[in-house]
Amino acid sequence: MKILIGEIAHETNTFSKVKTTVESFKQWEWLHGEAIINKHRKVRDYLGGMIDRAEEIGVEVVPTFSAFAMPSGIITQETYERLVYELINEIKVAGNFDAICLALHGAGVVEGIDDLEGGILTAVRNVVGYEIPIVVTLDLHGNITDQMVKEADALLGVNFYPHVDSYERGMEAIDITKRILLGEVQPKMSLKKLPLMIPTSTTNLSPAKDINQLCWNREEHESILDCTFFHGFPYTNIPEVGVTILTVTDNDQDLADKTSEEIADEVWKRRKEFFPPIVSPIEGIQKALKIDGYPIVINETSDNPGGGTPGDGTHLLSAMLQENLRNACFGFIYDPEVVNIAHEKGVGATIEVNIGGKTDDMHGDPIPIKAYVKTLTDGRFVQSSPMGKGGKINYGKSARLIVNDLDIIVCSKRSQTLDEQIFILHGIDVTTYKIVALKSSQHFRAGFEPLANTIISVDSPGLSSFNLKFFNHTRLAGPVYPFNEEDELLKRNEWSKK
Ligand SMILES: [Zn+2]
Repeated sequence: MKILIGEIAHETNTFSKVKTTVESFKQWEWLHGEAIINKHRKVRDYLGGMIDRAEEIGVEVVPTFSAFAMPSGIITQETYERLVYELINEIKVAGNFDAICLALHGAGVVEGIDDLEGGILTAVRNVVGYEIPIVVTLDLHGNITDQMVKEADALLGVNFYPHVDSYERGMEAIDITKRILLGEVQPKMSLKKLPLMIPTSTTNLSPAKDINQLCWNREEHESILDCTFFHGFPYTNIPEVGVTILTVTDNDQDLADKTSEEIADEVWKRRKEFFPPIVSPIEGIQKALKIDGYPIVINETSDNPGGGTPGDGTHLLSAMLQENLRNACFGFIYDPEVVNIAHEKGVGATIEVNIGGKTDDMHGDPIPIKAYVKTLTDGRFVQSSPMGKGGKINYGKSARLIVNDLDIIVCSKRSQTLDEQIFILHGIDVTTYKIVALKSSQHFRAGFEPLANTIISVDSPGLSSFNLKFFNHTRLAGPVYPFNEEDELLKRNEWSKK
C-alpha cells in the first residue's frame, strides 16, 4: 500500500494589504520529497502524524510537495499556479500509488479564486481521476465549501483551538485511507453551513468546548467516522465564509445529513455566547494590576499574525509604556529595521528608534523609544508548546530591548507567540514577571495556560479583532449573524424558527 502525502496551507486574511507570494511561502516552508520526511517526522503536526502513523502500520508514504506561509493577504494568481504545478508535478512522477493524503487549511483565497483548497483538489482530480481516494486534513478555521466536499473522499478537521490535535488528525487520515483501500469503509459527507460568523473562540472554554463534546458524542456511533465543528475564518471577504458542521459517515448519507443538521442547531442556539465583551489594552492592564499573583498574560488578539495581521501593531505596547509598567515583558513585535539597528550597535548600547506601526495605519503608530540593548539572538529555537511540539522555529535576527523596566522582544519575522521559548532565548523567565504580553488570539493558550495566573484578552482596531463589525464584508451570500437583524436571519435559515 502506497500513499502520497503533501501539504499546501494558507489562511488568507483578505482584508490585509500584504499579498501572499511564492517568496512568502519560501520564507516558511517550501519542500520537496525526502526533505518533507526529515522535517516533519516525530513533529506534532499534520504531516508528522501522517508519516509516523504510516511507518507504524507498515504503509509506504511518498512525500510530494509541502508549502506553508504565515497567514497574510490574498494569494497572487501566479503563486497559486506555481503551488499547483509543484504538487501536480510530484504526483505525476510518483509512479504507481494507491491514495493521496493532503494537509490543507481550508481558508485559502487566491486572486480570482475564492476557494484555494477546492481549486487544488480539482487540479489533483484532473490528473488522478476519481478512483484514487483523496483524504484531506483541515484547520477548523477553514471556510468549508461544496467543492472541497465534492472532490475529497473525506475531510478531517482539527477539533481543538489551540490546534493541539493536528498530529492526531494526520494519523487519522492515514487510518481512514487504509480502511478505504481495504474496502472496510465508504465515506459519505454532509456539510451544513450556518449563516453565522464567530470571532476566534478557544475550545478550552464554553461554548466551543461544549459543541466539541456534542460532536464527540456523535462519533460514538459506529457509522460516524468524524464530526467536526468548523469555526470558519471570518476575516475573509468571500460568499462562502462562516461556520459549518461536517459529518463523515460510513456509507450513510442520511445519518451524515441528520447529524450535521442537529449539531448546527445547537451552535445556532448558542450563537450569542461566541461574542465576549471587548476589553481595551488600557482596561486589560488596569485589570491585571488589580490581581494578586503572577504572571498575568495579556494577549493582543487584534494583531495576531497567525490570523494574517502585520505583527507590528503598537496599541498594547504603547498602553504598557504609557502605564510605565514595572516587571513586565512584551514578546514579541515584528520590526526588522529596529532589530538591525540593535544588532549594529551591539549589546550594552542605548538606541533611539521608532518601533512598530510600519505596515499600515490601522494597528497603531510607530512608538519613539530610547532603549537599552540587552540581548541579541538568531531567533531560533525548538517549539515546546503541545501544538507543533518539536518543530524548529526561526524568527530571524532578534533583540531584547529594555525601556525603563519593560522588556521588549523584537524579531525579523512575523508570527504569533505560541510558547515561552522566545522569552527563554532572550534570558527571560516569564514565571517571575508580573505581566507577560504577547500577540496571539488563542493558540498561545496551549503553551501559557499551564504557567499563567490569569489570562486577559485585549482588543483594539486590527485585522484579527473580535469586533467583526469592524470589517467590511461586501460579498456575503445573504444575511449573516452578527451583522443582520433577527427578522432578516429568520428569512434565511430554518434553525431560528425553532
Ligand atoms: Zn486555525
